[in-house]
Amino acid sequence: MTTTHDTRGFGSWIELSAPAYQANLAFLRQRIGPEVELAVVVKSNAYGHGLEPIARLAIDAGADSFCVHALDEALALRAAGFTQDILVMGHVPLARLGEAVAEDLRVVLYDPVTADALADAAERRGKRARAHLKVETGTNRQGIDGAELDGLVARLVERPSLDVEGVYTHFADIEDTTDHAFAREQLRLFRAAMDRLEAAGITPRKRHAACSAAAILYEETHFDMVRVGISQYGFWSSKQTRLSFDHRATDERGASDPAHRLQPVLTWKARISQIKTVPTDGFVGYGRTYQTTRDTRLAILPIGYADGYDRHLSNVASVLIGGRRAPVRGRICMNLTMVDVTDVPDVGLEDEVVLIGRQGDRRIDADDLADHVGTIPYEIVARLAAHLPRMIVDR
Ligand SMILES: *Cc1c(COP(=O)(O)O)cnc(C)c1O
Repeated sequence: MTTTHDTRGFGSWIELSAPAYQANLAFLRQRIGPEVELAVVVKSNAYGHGLEPIARLAIDAGADSFCVHALDEALALRAAGFTQDILVMGHVPLARLGEAVAEDLRVVLYDPVTADALADAAERRGKRARAHLKVETGTNRQGIDGAELDGLVARLVERPSLDVEGVYTHFADIEDTTDHAFAREQLRLFRAAMDRLEAAGITPRKRHAACSAAAILYEETHFDMVRVGISQYGFWSSKQTRLSFDHRATDERGASDPAHRLQPVLTWKARISQIKTVPTDGFVGYGRTYQTTRDTRLAILPIGYADGYDRHLSNVASVLIGGRRAPVRGRICMNLTMVDVTDVPDVGLEDEVVLIGRQGDRRIDADDLADHVGTIPYEIVARLAAHLPRMIVDR
């Protein structure tokens, strides 16, 4: 794996910690055991971390397969040489189902029109298509309703070119609460749907339901495979998930074990592109939303909301420079952000800045930025721009 990088040519970039990623996957593997398929969810550019580098880290760390949202994400993995199983969880345009068959992808199935088109596409290629039936159990997002299930199943039975390899569902409320009664009800409906499949002669080899929170907290959700997204990147799905886990880990083996801690994989850095002094009572940025109360040293950073630094962080977030906090002043621009370095000694042009991650003994987590913005860390990292260079580091 790559170790040293010359970053002098970059205004901003993202570093991915190989040891942190490996530790997270080891933790997840320990939760699910050796038999359950560990599928890593790498949709949306691997939650903003970078599809290819994360896919490489994942396979090296013992992941078994991938889940993506879009066909093009799966094709990008194939083009990069990944031969592992890939489940496309989002709708594949009917006109492109042939590409999914050609690349041997697992395709989500929840409606009869897609079932027929997928079967046709497979027949045209003289292959079988690998379908994963998505069952609605109460999230009321994507999936086939109980009432329509038998009709679809009858259709599937008539199309031998469809290999119903998998059946799955997705929890609505497993991370936002410490009360898991609703999840248990979803699980009951999922089992009932599987019984109906079985009665029709369909026995999928891959039954799956668990996202990160379920995989970490509930063994009864593991079945044959888990789909873990956020936790592989070192984030807890929510504060409730972490609380629930800490509570149990204390019972099981002591919550203080560092092996039971997820570690953020991503560090977002930039280099100072200008330093200037603004006199007392000067304004900073568009709309003059910040006025200096003393002679102020400002560092200009070459990143903005177009890079994924949310405009709601204006005047509230801070960054790390020289191991200290430097507050954002004024509105975040499309490509530029101004920070106050008056209290940071010896700041120079092109000095390294940390926007998310650790510097010295301070750290800024995606969770902190999410709290400022009023969102979840998933959104903070998923919106990191694809144009930022990503690199794997061994620290
Ligand atoms: C995104 C997604 C996941 C992963 O969820 P995490 O909470 O990030 O682990 C799992 N399953 C489905 C269907 C998803 O869309």
